[in-house]
Amino acid sequence: MSTPSPREFLPFALPDTDDAEIAAIAEVVRSGWLTTGAKVREFERRFAEYIGASHAVAVNSCTAALHLALEAIGVRHGDEVIVPVHTFAATAEVVRYFDARPVLVDVEPRTLNIDPEAVRAVLSPRTRAVIPVHFGGLAADLDAVRAVLPAGLPVIEDAAHALPTRYRGRMIGTISEVTCFSFYANKTMTTGEGGMLVTEDAALADRARIMSMHGISRDAWKRFTAEGSWYYEIIAPGFKYNLTDIAAALGIVQLEKLQRMHARRAVIAARFDRAFADVAEVETPARAPSDGLHAWHLYCIRLDLPRLTIDRARFIERLRALGIGASVHYTPLHLHPYYRETFGTTAEQFPVATREAARLITLPLYSRMTDRDVDDVIAAVLDTIAAHRR
Ligand SMILES: *Cc1c(COP(=O)(O)O)cnc(C)c1O
Repeated sequence: MSTPSPREFLPFALPDTDDAEIAAIAEVVRSGWLTTGAKVREFERRFAEYIGASHAVAVNSCTAALHLALEAIGVRHGDEVIVPVHTFAATAEVVRYFDARPVLVDVEPRTLNIDPEAVRAVLSPRTRAVIPVHFGGLAADLDAVRAVLPAGLPVIEDAAHALPTRYRGRMIGTISEVTCFSFYANKTMTTGEGGMLVTEDAALADRARIMSMHGISRDAWKRFTAEGSWYYEIIAPGFKYNLTDIAAALGIVQLEKLQRMHARRAVIAARFDRAFADVAEVETPARAPSDGLHAWHLYCIRLDLPRLTIDRARFIERLRALGIGASVHYTPLHLHPYYRETFGTTAEQFPVATREAARLITLPLYSRMTDRDVDDVIAAVLDTIAAHRR
């Protein structure tokens, strides 16, 4: 096999949008009502219905949803919240917003999801919640996490990667006390920026909704419309986390496409799996069991570095030289300066995440990729391996 010639650059991620999103946004702009209003309520209703959940609160990011979830369950200064190290900044930073302590735990080697035994080991009287992450779109073992927790301790799922994901036949968003989704531009559906808090608890949903809008009492937005009044009450110093109708209009169209976009992601993931199945230098990601569903937000390969004469950074550089945008998810939290300096974390404390993250590469995977794009990614990976086999 000869080295493929560099192609036009294939970005690591691209949203799947077309004229339908543009028309939906244009309609909102023409209506004259740009911020939180009827489109947001419609998006919430449709999203809750899609998930099969009772309450959905639209906000301007998943980070905001996580913050509101912790606020609603009453996290305070000095409390502890258990967070896996193999995640994005947001999962743990929201705990710091309360001057509470993110208690970091290691992950399982095959899935890179939170290790329930590690959770058990760090439980304390100060533990207020656990935030599992469904890494890449594969559900964390929620039953096993629940099994180690004292009764009544809430689980807040960081489901930024997990739309649509199923765990033991159940939709993510219907299982724990609170589930937070992301509609950031590179996620499995997007509103540009946006997020959704989903729960079965009406009082919790109410609190999150009020706190997402300055702590102003119920449906304050109605005060600007004919059916509303000028009167409102501030019941707590809240936040400015509401989603706009412009973003919600985009989200409604994306939600309609979600099934199709997910099906395409799954086809691409299966092609990658087949292409790398017999390549000793590559470990492919864990698949969902037959009663589960993988959202395929990310496709992360892990390199068997001792078999190669190239390191991970140079591997990614070579893919880029061949026109393929790759990335890394993640450098685990405990290796970042903030956590090292604030909590004294070390590489040795979280051996699985330290070892696995160092050999991980995220390949492009999104519904707009053509078969040709997929073939080019595979060819670039195989060629880079062939050129650097020990
Ligand atoms: C993207 C992401 C978030 C944050 O989502 P935003 O909508 O950008 O706030 C949180 N957690 C994980 C694991 C993510 O990947």
